[in-house]
Formats: sequence, C-alpha cells, structure tokens
Amino acid sequence: MLIYKTYKFRMYPDLDQVQKLNSFLGTKRFIYNYYLNEKEKNKNLTFNQMKQDLVFLKDKHHWLKEVDDYILLNALDDLENAYKRFYNKLSGKPKHKSYNSIQSYRTSCKKDKKGITNIKVDLENNVIKLPKLDEIKIKGYRKLKEFNLKIINATVLKEAGKYYVLVLVLENLKTEPLKMPKSIVGVDLGVKDIITTSNGLKIQKIKELKKLENKLKGLNKWLSRSKLGRKNHYKIILKIEKINQKIKNIRKTYNHLITTNLIKENDIIVIENLKINPMIIDAKDKIAKYLYNTSLNEIIHNLRYKATWYNKRIYQVSTYYPSSQLCSNCKNKNSKVKDLSVREWECPRCHFVHDRDINASLNILDEGLKLYLKDLQKFN
Ligand SMILES: [Zn+2]
Repeated sequence: MLIYKTYKFRMYPDLDQVQKLNSFLGTKRFIYNYYLNEKEKNKNLTFNQMKQDLVFLKDKHHWLKEVDDYILLNALDDLENAYKRFYNKLSGKPKHKSYNSIQSYRTSCKKDKKGITNIKVDLENNVIKLPKLDEIKIKGYRKLKEFNLKIINATVLKEAGKYYVLVLVLENLKTEPLKMPKSIVGVDLGVKDIITTSNGLKIQKIKELKKLENKLKGLNKWLSRSKLGRKNHYKIILKIEKINQKIKNIRKTYNHLITTNLIKENDIIVIENLKINPMIIDAKDKIAKYLYNTSLNEIIHNLRYKATWYNKRIYQVSTYYPSSQLCSNCKNKNSKVKDLSVREWECPRCHFVHDRDINASLNILDEGLKLYLKDLQKFN
C-alpha cells in the first residue's frame, strides 16, 4: 500500500544560503500577496489565468526568474486552495502574508532528462539538495541510514529564525495480511470526557487545556467589547494568538499520546462518524464548538493514519446510529436520554443502570462488530 509521509529536518544553512532562502521566502510572499490583490479586484480570476499572467509579471520583474519556478506556481496553488476553503466555509478569508507570520515556500520534485532529481536527501552526509541552492546541512532521523524514497515535494519553513525543511514522500508500506484481531474496542468521543471506551476507560481533558480555553473565551469577550483601532484591541488579538498557539501545541501532543495508546492496545477501533454530531450543532458557544470540533477531527485523523502504520483497523459507524439512546443490554430505545445533561439512566425495560458514555461506547462496539463480520464475509 502506498502512503504519504512527511519527514521534517532542521536545516543549518550558511550565510550565503540564508540570503538565498530568505529571498525565496520573500518571493513566495510577494507572489501570494500580489495575486491576492488581483483576486480581490477580480473574483473570477482562475488558476490558469494567474499562471499566464505570471509570464508577463516575470518580464516586468526580472528577479522572479532567479527563483525556482515551482515556488511561484505552488504559491498560486496555495492561494487557490485558501480561496476554496473560504468559499466552502472551512476557513476565514485569505489574508496577506506578512513578514511576521510563519514563512514557507514549497517546491516540487522533478527528474530531468538524465534522470537527476532536483530534490535529494543524503543521510550519509546529512545534506539536502534543493533547487537553486547548494547542499545544505540537515539534522534529523539519526536512525535512518538511507533515503531511497520517492520525493513528491519539499517545503522550506522559517520559524522563529530557524530553518526547517519538510520532505513529503510516497512510501510503499508493506501490508501484512490482516491477522485475526484479538481485541476490539468501541470509542465514544465527547466533550467532558474526550474518550470513553467500551473497556470502561475514561480520558478527561487535561486541566491545563481547560484553563487555557477558559482564558481564551474571556479574552474573546473582552475583544468584542474593545474598540477597533485602539492600542488595547491589538494587544488582545496578540494575546489570543499566543494562547491559541499554546492550546494547539498541548492538544496535539496530548492527542498523539491518546491515539497511539488506543492503536497499540487494540486491533480494531470503532468510532462514530462525527460530521453531523448534534452536540456540535447545539453548542451555543462558538469558541467551545470550534475547539471541540478541531480536537475530535484531529483524534479521528490520527487514529486513521496510525492504524495504517500499525496494521490495525478503524471502523466508523453511521452518524444516524443512536448510540447514546439505545440500551446496550436489551437494545431498547430510550429517547429521553437525548438530553445531554442526562449522565446516568436506568433502562425502563431491563432496569440496567447505565453510564451515558460507557453505554454509548458499548453500542458503538456492537455496530463495529457487525461491520467487521460483513467484511469477513466479503473476503471469504
Ligand atoms: Zn435495557
């Protein structure tokens, strides 16, 4: 099976290379911002029109010719994608890239007629060759001896004065035949307890994260009351950005830990499909909604790709499956449980007393088992 994987290396460019890298980063920013302005003037400007216009722009600004062409084209591609996300209501309006934001440029891997590629990672000498640059020293992946992977592209990043390169490769993962699963677990994803499993495990959101999220809510209230153009207003925005970054980092580390454990300990993991979760739609608090949404999506994303790494399986049950309302003991449906505040309930038919989330995870497990049996029939 072929999978995409990213390798991140720290780069140690010399002075000459730093100058070049900075000028490439600046060029990418220039192109992005230039066509952002053009798009503002003419909404219907397409990728191909921008690409054609780029030829004229290069005649006007000769220094654009000193840059690898892929950097320019990928800048247009990034802009196009930013607008697509905006039109599909997945993110805010594309903004100008400033010198202060994280800077990056992406270049694509190509072979020339002699079969020499423009991007090359040499782990024996710890250097990377990027288009229009000499070999740059890199560090990372000490255990890896060779880099005989199909490179798709490389993204150069400048973060807090340090340079990194992210190399995207297409790796051929040796797929072992699916072994007989020894363990299967149902997972209920929630707000208070992030994860509840059918084994009775509950994982709560860590306190530090809760604190930061409350702080963020407070600051946002403050921001909505402060006046635009005042010095204070921008101070609050800066604070919000800092806390957002902190939340993101803590959440990422934490979610990695949770998902790695879940994957390592179980052969089949059953989760819900959360696209139209009523909890998200009902939430009145927009920020809480956003944080909840991103965190759960991250968990699902992590589980999915880690499952391919460890040769495990993920099943997702239908959004419409009433996992919380069914009694996991007798399968009687109790609509009164729809109310999210009901944390514990007794089944009116079999009188089993349920913890809301554990009951849901047991139902999710049942549905997962059905999906697994269906798969078995398909293969036999
Ligand atoms: Zn029952």
